[in-house]
Amino acid sequence: MPLLANHIAVITGAGSGIGRAIAAGYAREGAHVVLLDQNGDAAAEAAKEIRNAGGKADSFTLDVTDRDACSAMARHVADKVGAVSILVNNAGIARRNGMLGADEAVIKDWEDIISINLTGVFNVTHAFLAPLRKNKGRIVNIGSIQSFVHLRTPSSPAYTASKHGVLGFTKALAAELGKDGVRVNAIGPGFIETPLNEKVRASNPDLVKVFIDHTPLGRAGKAEDIVGPAIFLASDLSAYVSGSIVMVDGGYRTL
Ligand code: NAP
Repeated sequence: MPLLANHIAVITGAGSGIGRAIAAGYAREGAHVVLLDQNGDAAAEAAKEIRNAGGKADSFTLDVTDRDACSAMARHVADKVGAVSILVNNAGIARRNGMLGADEAVIKDWEDIISINLTGVFNVTHAFLAPLRKNKGRIVNIGSIQSFVHLRTPSSPAYTASKHGVLGFTKALAAELGKDGVRVNAIGPGFIETPLNEKVRASNPDLVKVFIDHTPLGRAGKAEDIVGPAIFLASDLSAYVSGSIVMVDGGYRTL
């Protein structure tokens, strides 16, 4: 029996990179996946690929910063697809700007990054809480190495704060929802080759080298590297795991 049979799984930011790979992996394990992304065309294309491969998938356009739209989406998914039992909060952005740039840019970075990476996680979780509590649901939040450290490479305080926040939210929610049988965990990806860092990889090989030199496994990750841990955390394989973060970083934090 596939590991996620009879589950309905919502994945945000599922039109690209890590979210897209998780959606495909969950579908291979029998889940009916609901791909949400602000880029509705990309989510629709990813859902089509899943259906063509024999999986069950729907897609809808959603900006996770729009709280009302998140609530409306939860009602829409309940009507059109059914009761959600897995939520992956994956939508996120990264910008490598410090605190010392022009005021306007620094403030914009803070507001955009916190509203998508942290408030977005709150908005979507809040919207889907009822079916998740009813179904002893599983929530998987995508954190980062920066849920723990500020990188030695250029990186924004806003991004680091947002990913520390995701881990804090994960733990607080795990404590509160455990009595309902809801498990809440996070994944901490290391440097994963996705469209998120495509420009940096093309323009700044030295920065990529700093990451790889600091990674015991000696390579960058692929989106597919996140899929196994994401299946583990959503399935009964992790029945007694809650409030944890699984680092998928090639060992980055050991050095
Ligand atoms: P990605 O390829 O850029 O995919 C992110 C997806 O989220 C994109 O489709 C993006 O749409 C979408 N999105 C952005 N803002 C959104 C919003 N407000 N509402 C809904 N969807 C939105 O990035 P990724 O590398 O897969 O990253 C996924 C998650 O992993 C993020 O939370 C990121 O912080 C985290 N992460 C990534 C790495 C890494 O090295 N790649 C490392 C650690 C953590 P657009 O394309 O339109 O922007």
